[in-house]
Amino acid sequence: MSPLTANQQQMLADNAWLHFCQMGNFVSTNARPLVLVRGEGSRLWDHEGREYLDALSGLFTVNVGYGRHEIIDAIAQQLQSIAFVSPFGFPSLPLLELAGKLAAIAPTGPASRSFFVTSGSEAVEAALKMAKAYQRKQGFPERTKVVARRGSYHGVTMGALSATGVPEYRKGFGPLVPGARHVPPPYPYRCRHCAQCSACTGGCADDFEEILEFEDPTTVAVVIMEPVQNSGGALVTPPIYIQRVRELCDHYGIVLVADEVINAFGRVGGWFGSSELGLRPDIVTVAKGITSGYAALGAVIASKQIADAFLGTDDNKFMHGSTFGGHVGSCAAALATLGILEREQLPERSRQVGAWLLQRLREVFADHPNVGDVRGKGMFIAIELVRDRETRESLSQEVQLMEWLSDQLLQHGLICRADDRMEPVIQVAPPLVMTMEELDLLVHRLTDVLHVLGRRLDSVPARYAAVPLPAASAVPPVATPARSPSIAA
Ligand code: PLP
Repeated sequence: MSPLTANQQQMLADNAWLHFCQMGNFVSTNARPLVLVRGEGSRLWDHEGREYLDALSGLFTVNVGYGRHEIIDAIAQQLQSIAFVSPFGFPSLPLLELAGKLAAIAPTGPASRSFFVTSGSEAVEAALKMAKAYQRKQGFPERTKVVARRGSYHGVTMGALSATGVPEYRKGFGPLVPGARHVPPPYPYRCRHCAQCSACTGGCADDFEEILEFEDPTTVAVVIMEPVQNSGGALVTPPIYIQRVRELCDHYGIVLVADEVINAFGRVGGWFGSSELGLRPDIVTVAKGITSGYAALGAVIASKQIADAFLGTDDNKFMHGSTFGGHVGSCAAALATLGILEREQLPERSRQVGAWLLQRLREVFADHPNVGDVRGKGMFIAIELVRDRETRESLSQEVQLMEWLSDQLLQHGLICRADDRMEPVIQVAPPLVMTMEELDLLVHRLTDVLHVLGRRLDSVPARYAAVPLPAASAVPPVATPARSPSIAA
């Protein structure tokens, strides 16, 4: 039986259109959509009262957890004062305060300027336009190319989609914005240069340089990358690559954009992924965690050097904008969110607890024949699934694996993401407030799901017996984290 009334079921079948979703699957009256109706901390409840552990923070978004009245009250209070201020030349008070706070923590430096939008896609779109316009202002109109990574996801608007390196998103919408080029992502587990070495040899950076040279770097306007890439499963960019990309961008005058739509606001530990990995970007794009999902907001944070290029006469301005960009309610939500992140030291908690969780998952799945790699940073972790951990044989040809796995995760009361945009992975990105007991439960449930996967693939129990797990009380306490750079600075 569906959790919806007949009327609601009808509207789902006929009127609603969900994102990246085959709506035909909902046409049958037997369709049983998951209807989430309540959230508290890291827990969610569906329409029928079933409880789930949210190990994906909604969609890498709800960093401070559900049910934060402080954020809800901040939005309400703001809207009671004034519900809308046009961003076309009118500075709202929460927007100003938020821009100041972001400048205090951004990896683009304390004189950064923030341009507010409503989503990650819009942030990337605006950043790419800003970078191209900047190059023109510097006297380089021939610099039009965008270099991104294969397998990366940067959003759905035409510019962001052109930078996106996942073929399934791109096909069917051509011609895309010309000039996008894609380089292989650093992917240590399957790196053709150093997968069998004890450390990164920098071959991925050589690949990047080679493609840049081939394209003629004087035609490249911008390089865009996530410090820790989501699509493909928490691919942490190695230090050698970070350093070389920055050097090459400096050398050739290319703008470097860090897409931190997921990475920022504690997800990978620290305020920003760039700062965590030692990357010095010229522009940072953010969204998702900036309001923890309580309101729609994105931002392009530009260094002083980029922003100053748009000062001067009226015809030198950044010719871009949208009605809801930097909405007052969203800025109020962001200020309250940043306040919680700072007060509860959640970026540091993510760093420490994330390291613990990574280690725990590595231990627990050390002998699982279908777990090839467990990787990530902070509360941003991926488990790469393989047919055979010895040979690293891919599971990408296993029929309907992602659908089956998604269903298994839900059946075990877990909201994670089974993703095969590159190799099949389970993505784990809990709210930064998930308690140690809940994290322990998460590990237990994942163990159960992977045990069932092993059965499906005929590799368990013959070669793997689930490691007995300690009770929640045996989980070691996390040390009180050191203080982070303050947004009050
Ligand atoms: N950039 C990155 C790295 C993302 O992960 C996403 C979304 O997941 C986007 C951009 C697009 O953000 P949005 O879905 O808010 O448009």
